[in-house]
Amino acid sequence: MYKKQKLKGKVIAITGAARGIGLATAEALIQQGAQVSIGDIDLELAQREAQRIGAQAFYVDVRDRNSFSQFIHNTIQYYGSLYSLINNAGIMPMGAFLDEEPALADAQIDINFRGVIYGMQLALPELLKNGVGHIVNIASLAGRFALPGSAVYSGTKFAVVGLTEAVAGEYRNSKIQFTAIMPSKVLTELTTGTDQASKTIPSVTPQQVAHAVVSALLKPQLFIAVPDYLQSVHRAYGLLPQWAQRGARRMLGDDGILTKLDHQAHSGYANRINELAK
Ligand code: NAD
Repeated sequence: MYKKQKLKGKVIAITGAARGIGLATAEALIQQGAQVSIGDIDLELAQREAQRIGAQAFYVDVRDRNSFSQFIHNTIQYYGSLYSLINNAGIMPMGAFLDEEPALADAQIDINFRGVIYGMQLALPELLKNGVGHIVNIASLAGRFALPGSAVYSGTKFAVVGLTEAVAGEYRNSKIQFTAIMPSKVLTELTTGTDQASKTIPSVTPQQVAHAVVSALLKPQLFIAVPDYLQSVHRAYGLLPQWAQRGARRMLGDDGILTKLDHQAHSGYANRINELAK
């Protein structure tokens, strides 16, 4: 299916890879022969998973530029020249805009957006020095279709999509590639309790997102939606007049997070990210 040799021996760093999409991506890349370093704020879990899958774990808090710099440095010290950084760490609070604690809004801006800026600014000089490389940012379809009930999150993901495209434009004459991956709902802890809230949203597994990341690294594309047909849906949606867009979204019940989230089932995830925002 894939050209197995292309990623063999390549050094790839992934943030937020102790679990979920990042971990599935690490596993998929190791199967391709890559040397993978997984960074996470949850070092204990990252170390356990790294040992299981044959990666190397390091601590990183992507909100802290020095910590991110140390993560890149540790990866290069351990494995050698960096080929790719996958900016995956992110949090997604769910609830009404006016009810969101300021600290949680700040944490999203810091982790989902500022962290991606830091990662790109720290990794890009390394890739330019090597004359080759690829930065992959895990954005979201919520960075294309704004999502009521996760307003600040949507804002950060729109920002990541724009950032990726603009930096790709600046480096279009280099050998460095850029990709924003835009998954729909992914079945990780982040989406627990959303079965009723997002009934009309297609869901995919973390392994499907990992497959998209591997595809991007093998055959570079600026944007990849997961599932991929949603890229065309987005294009068609963009051609509709605003009243028709509003009507379609109302029909699909795009405010399900506000009205149908199962708060009890979602509490484990909510508690984890609330702790991060303290
Ligand atoms: P997850 O919660 O399962 O995993 C995220 C990981 O990031 C966790 O291990 C967490 O410890 C780590 N992390 C959080 N803050 C950090 C920080 N400051 N520094 C370093 N690591 C940190 O989430 P997931 O579902 O795997 O999501 C991964 C990415 O995919 C996120 O950017 C998310 O926005 C995006 N995404 C998820 C979905 C979905 O439905 N799950 C859909 C589209 C996009």
